[in-house]
Order: sequence, then C-alpha cells, then structure tokens
Amino acid sequence: MNTHTESEIRKSFVNCSKGAAQRIAIPRTLLDADWESLIFLGWVDPKSPQSGYLVVETEAGLRGLALQKNPPKGRGSAQMCQLCMTLHPGSGVSLVSIQRSKSAKDRYNSMATYICSDLRCSDYTLGKKRPDGVRQMEETLSVEQRAERTLDNVRSLVERIESGSGARPR
Ligand SMILES: [Zn+2]
Repeated sequence: MNTHTESEIRKSFVNCSKGAAQRIAIPRTLLDADWESLIFLGWVDPKSPQSGYLVVETEAGLRGLALQKNPPKGRGSAQMCQLCMTLHPGSGVSLVSIQRSKSAKDRYNSMATYICSDLRCSDYTLGKKRPDGVRQMEETLSVEQRAERTLDNVRSLVERIESGSGARPR
C-alpha cells in the first residue's frame, strides 16, 4: 500500500456519514505503520472494540468501510476469515455487520461476513502472525498469491457494499 494522510483516510469511507467519518478513532501507530507491508489498513477502535475499520486501495481510489462486530457467542468451533482465509478458534474471528448506506437510519440495509477480530489480515496473510491452537488448511499458494487473494477479497467486499447503496465517496 502507498502512504495516505489521515484526511484521505477519513474521506475514503463509503458507508458512514461525513460526521461519523470525522469521529473515527485513527490510532497514531496506524499512521506511522510501515504501509508498504500492508495489504490494506485494518484496525479496531481502541475505545470501542465493537467498531472496526478497513481501508483499501482500489482502481477507483481509496475506499474505507466501517464495520460493527457482533459480540462473540461463547467458544464455538473455528471460523474462517472471509478476507484472508485464516482459521481462528474462539473469538479470533468476528461476525461483522457492514452497513450499506451512509445514513444510520438505513442501518437495516447491511450485510454480514466473518473477519479476523483484530483486523490484522495483512499480517496473517503474510505469515507475520498466526492464530494459536488451530491448524490452518494446507495451501500451495505463494505469499504473493495469498496477498493478491486477500486484496481481491477486500476489494470485492467494498464493491458489494458500494453497489448495494449507490454510495460514492465524497
Ligand atoms: Zn482475516
């Protein structure tokens, strides 16, 4: 990923209001991160752990999604992140709701998917982090191919959200 400024990040959100995008907590550590080693930006609001965010470069420009994590339902079986295909035990994966519209009134127009609870899919894809206590599927893909797959998955998620709402960035 290329480096982007905080204001570029705030402008990229396609599924929350301008005011809400201004209030998103963007940790300093994220802005200072090594962007080159990131497939997309993903983070959890440090003060509100149910809120997560992802920002990705697409052909149409930078796009961001606000996500709402559902509370974990106890210790279920391992689940797979639908972005980076990493298997996590317990609460390592969250069922997230993603609103399709910028307006909070429209919150029932949303879709749900499973995503790594810490949103560190870049690190899992590149093998920098591994969940404990679960065996991953055997894969023959190279790291580059896995990175490409994760990027494609994030971009198509953004497309599905955008096409469902007609939303365009400001
Ligand atoms: Zn993931």
